[in-house]
Amino acid sequence: MGTLCHITLSGSVPKSSLRRVKENINAALETLDSAMSTWNPASEISGFNQFHSLEPYAVSPEFASVVRRALKIAERTGGAFDPTVKPLVDHWGFGSEADSESVADIMQSVGWQKVSATGNELIKTHPGVQLDLSAIAKGYGVDTVAGVIRRAGFEHFIVEIGGEIVAAGRNPKQKPWRVGIESPEPGAAFGGQILQAVELSGRAMATSGGYRNFRMRADGTRYSHIIDPVTGMPAESDVASVSVIADTCMDADAAATALFVMGSARGLELIETVPGVEALFVLHGNGEAFAVRASSGFPE
Ligand code: AMP
Ligand code: MG
Repeated sequence: MGTLCHITLSGSVPKSSLRRVKENINAALETLDSAMSTWNPASEISGFNQFHSLEPYAVSPEFASVVRRALKIAERTGGAFDPTVKPLVDHWGFGSEADSESVADIMQSVGWQKVSATGNELIKTHPGVQLDLSAIAKGYGVDTVAGVIRRAGFEHFIVEIGGEIVAAGRNPKQKPWRVGIESPEPGAAFGGQILQAVELSGRAMATSGGYRNFRMRADGTRYSHIIDPVTGMPAESDVASVSVIADTCMDADAAATALFVMGSARGLELIETVPGVEALFVLHGNGEAFAVRASSGFPE
């Protein structure tokens, strides 16, 4: 997935079980990459994307379950999150392929209603439909790794893939894990300035932002790697970054991407209707300090 994975286990751990859990984690991550990486031409997702047919396409149960969840979240976010954005991601220069078609032409094959998942079969209603699960797969990967660690008997750990996090139990100081939300300065270094710290235990947090992965237009303005699937254009809202807390990192990841597209007003309205999901929006400062807006249940 072109990113890093950090794992910390807390407590005393026999070396042998540590070795075993590490092997199982690596195996799980390799399985994930071979299913969901659009950068790997031999992956399951690449196979589906190259299948220009309206016939059913059989995929692994794991892949099918992520697609089903992605389509559910697409529906609930009014298409602000949409796993069929792949051709747009390519068009705007963030994908694995070059694309010279116009946005209007590309939009013919974009839209979450143009693909369905029944059991372990996916069906396109337009032969050009292509999936990009990058906005949910990292979170799913974090859940998967956390599951491997739990099954090995560990209760105190933190797992992070590319900024998406699950924390469980307590840290080595016997306190709840504390996670920092970065200040979304354009081009900020990893682990830069921390805007706010959040205690996290038994839950997941994911962040989407336009401040690290962006391109420049000829006029020097920036555009982000997150696309508004409704317009086909790079998302432009009042949000510099948005962090979501949920029970699963898969849901937090997809929701963060959707909320970035929706903006803080529409996003907060939606989040307040979803029990167990909270969000913190960091709004563009336009030269001033960043402003913060959080949903009513977001931890202080
Ligand atoms: P994230 O960092 O989780 O917000 O995911 C962003 C990545 O997901 C992008 O690099 C694209 O590959 C893809 N993507 C961009 N826009 C969307 C969208 N509106 N819905 C789903 N995936 C998207
Ligand atoms: Mg995401």
